[in-house]
Amino acid sequence: MKRDVSLEEISDGRLYGSGDMVRTDTGGCEGCSSCCRGMGSSAVLDPMDVWRLCGALSCGFDGLLEKYLELKVTDGWVLPNLKMTGKDEACGFLNEQGRCTVHDARPGVCRLFPLGRYYSGRDFQYFVQIHECPAPKTKVKVKKWLQIPQLPRYEAYIRDWHFFLEDAAAALEGMGDAMHTKACTFVLETFYARPWDETDFYEQFAGRLREGARFMGIAAPGGEESR
Ligand code: SF4
Ligand code: SF4
Repeated sequence: MKRDVSLEEISDGRLYGSGDMVRTDTGGCEGCSSCCRGMGSSAVLDPMDVWRLCGALSCGFDGLLEKYLELKVTDGWVLPNLKMTGKDEACGFLNEQGRCTVHDARPGVCRLFPLGRYYSGRDFQYFVQIHECPAPKTKVKVKKWLQIPQLPRYEAYIRDWHFFLEDAAAALEGMGDAMHTKACTFVLETFYARPWDETDFYEQFAGRLREGARFMGIAAPGGEESR
């Protein structure tokens, strides 16, 4: 999700790669759970997030939508985000003890926190949101903080997904509301609602990305031509 703020306002002004050290919380999160409340519709999920959650909860995308997610327009696309509910506007996965009930399958945006991603020049880097988490700070390598298996593959996937949406949005400009609605429905159906099987996520995603690029009439991110 694009944010209309300057990097200087929310970060230490620096950009980091996965091999860099950042100053962030100790990993001994204090459990205040403020990062799991009051997020509005800002915690947008990517296809892998939905694949992970569906696997962990043994349900489909519809099952997630019934209780935990909602659909909102983000950067021109209809995408799912974590739904905040109740008087304290809490994520549905947060339990009464203030702990995440899907910790191992939590979405990428939760894994990143308090880091964020800054996209530029067909790539992205990480930044640290300095006003968000009250836990004590220490230095840690970005890749250690993320603890995501096959990180280079994951980062390539994140890039491909981001620039697919961006390129598709550019290709749709001026095509009218009907085409835009059709494209939004396609993205939702192809990358979220259609069930994923248990084989390698990245390979399945690459196939769907080629399908998406053909539909949108653009080159598939990652260099492969769609047609
Ligand atoms: S804001 Fe920081 S300390 Fe509070 S729950 Fe989130 S990670 Fe933990
Ligand atoms: S999924 Fe877990 S970590 Fe993420 S906002 Fe919800 S409760 Fe917090």
